[in-house]
Amino acid sequence: MSEHIHRRQRAAGLWDEVPVLAYKQDGAAPFRDVTRQVLFEHAALGCQLRYFEVAPGGHSTLERHEHVHAVMVLKGRGRALVGGQVFAVELHDLVEVPALAWHQFRADTDEPLGFLCMVNAVRDRPQLPDAESMGELCADPAVAAFIRT
Ligand code: MN
Repeated sequence: MSEHIHRRQRAAGLWDEVPVLAYKQDGAAPFRDVTRQVLFEHAALGCQLRYFEVAPGGHSTLERHEHVHAVMVLKGRGRALVGGQVFAVELHDLVEVPALAWHQFRADTDEPLGFLCMVNAVRDRPQLPDAESMGELCADPAVAAFIRT
């Protein structure tokens, strides 16, 4: 996908010549009702811009990694966990996920949550929480109530 000059948005969160992909390989990590689209991945950029859409009531994987995410909400609303913080996110909010911060995005029950996410093209694999990490995360009741695994 390196020679696209103009691709039209044909509906909210759907673009010409951008396939709607599975968020992750089935069984690779826990998540619910999330799609993934790669909008830009030109080799010269060194990064990818993806669009994820979490259906109402769905959630992304609880994970962490060395690479950073730069996120902008493009549709709907929901809540996010980044590090030890749980907060509401709305249209056009910006969220930065630092290196090795545990993170998860959840759509509200009556709205999808669509967001742009910029990442390095070359990046490490996400880590899932082990029992020890879950213990640390769940020490905060707000985090314990939020996370889905
Ligand atoms: Mn991530």
